[in-house]
Amino acid sequence: MQLIFSLFPFLFLFNTQLNNADPVAVDKQGIKEDLPYLIPFYKKLHQMPEVSLQEKETSALLASELRKIGVTVTENVGNSYGIVGIFKNGEGPTILYRTDMDALPMAEKTGLPYASTKTYTTNGTTSGVMHSCGHDMHMTTWLGTARALVKMKDKWKGTLMLIGQPAEEIGAGAKALLEGGIYETFGVPNYAVGLHCSPTIPAGKVGYGKGYTMAASESVTITVYGIGAHGASPHMSVDPIVLSSMLIMELQTITSRSLKPIESAVVTVGSIHAGTASNIIPDEVKLGLTLRTFKEEVRTMIHKRITEICHGTAMAAGLPPEKYPKIEFSPVYIAANYNNELLVDKLSGSAKKSIGENMVVNAEVQMVAEDFSAYGRTSHKVPSVLFWLGTAPEERIKKNDLPGLHSPFYYPDPEKSLETGILVTSQSLLDLFTGK
Ligand SMILES: [Zn+2]
Ligand SMILES: [Zn+2]
Repeated sequence: MQLIFSLFPFLFLFNTQLNNADPVAVDKQGIKEDLPYLIPFYKKLHQMPEVSLQEKETSALLASELRKIGVTVTENVGNSYGIVGIFKNGEGPTILYRTDMDALPMAEKTGLPYASTKTYTTNGTTSGVMHSCGHDMHMTTWLGTARALVKMKDKWKGTLMLIGQPAEEIGAGAKALLEGGIYETFGVPNYAVGLHCSPTIPAGKVGYGKGYTMAASESVTITVYGIGAHGASPHMSVDPIVLSSMLIMELQTITSRSLKPIESAVVTVGSIHAGTASNIIPDEVKLGLTLRTFKEEVRTMIHKRITEICHGTAMAAGLPPEKYPKIEFSPVYIAANYNNELLVDKLSGSAKKSIGENMVVNAEVQMVAEDFSAYGRTSHKVPSVLFWLGTAPEERIKKNDLPGLHSPFYYPDPEKSLETGILVTSQSLLDLFTGK
């Protein structure tokens, strides 16, 4: 480096002057002034949550807001309520910025004046509906950023690709849009960016992790067969409850004995259903598992061990091969999220520039999953980053009362989270558009 500088002093000087002469900064005042428009919008979204694949009103509202500022919107993308907004602003990079739109089937218990009172009925069961994963905050930040960038359009060149994604919570939305051909129809982006609310990072801060930041997620159903009998005649049975108990204990050894100690994975048996009465040995037990992994080879190993343990335990119980447990790996599978290292450096640099060095934190790796990962996993290998937007309200941090995502008590600090999210995302996109 030193040698290059001494050989080309003029070139170095020229570059430095060029970089310093043209710093593109977001219009902080303009963003602040837009909050009185955006906060009521956020509260409106919070009161109209829609569950996965039913985001009809939400997507229509986002589409109309984008059209108001001159964005070209295509609706019902990928046979869903997905929307793609394109704002073409001269020659330059294409940047994909995604928000998710869905809420969860659960009753809100925050007691906020703008709490959701909506209900949702399916198969005769009624539940509440709530934006307990903060997707309403994602949408409002997304709209606020689009509004800020459109206002500053003379300061950047390129194409802003705004994705309103359905069905994140069931891991189906990104897949639907990508299989619906968004890259083929609207162009392959140079970068993909997204954010997720963090329930523990204080509002006003953002967090970044490099490489694998969220796990791959999939579910497995195991049906354990046996031979039923009277509860008083266990010798006439092959008891699938005893078999399942052994199986559950043995499954714990996958992560403790088969997994390399420096790798991480989760194998959780989250549900077990069997039997009808205390004096009957049933002939079937159903187990529901969730698996979390980062690397494909770890995932393959876990699948193999589950199969071996199931077959081995059934064989030891004396069951014939046709009565070995049936193992069903779910077709819905969310890949691990990988944050491109260079892009993290760039975006966290932009964040520091917009909200200050001490407001940007390193985020821990989490075993939760996010289908945002899919945008960077096509053959185009688009560099992508999903960062954390701090949302924890100050009064809750003081009381150490920080409910997690999907809790009926979770809520973000609307104003602070929103302003931070828009400042950071606008500056990040601006820097990517202008190559700063
Ligand atoms: Zn969620
Ligand atoms: Zn979420």
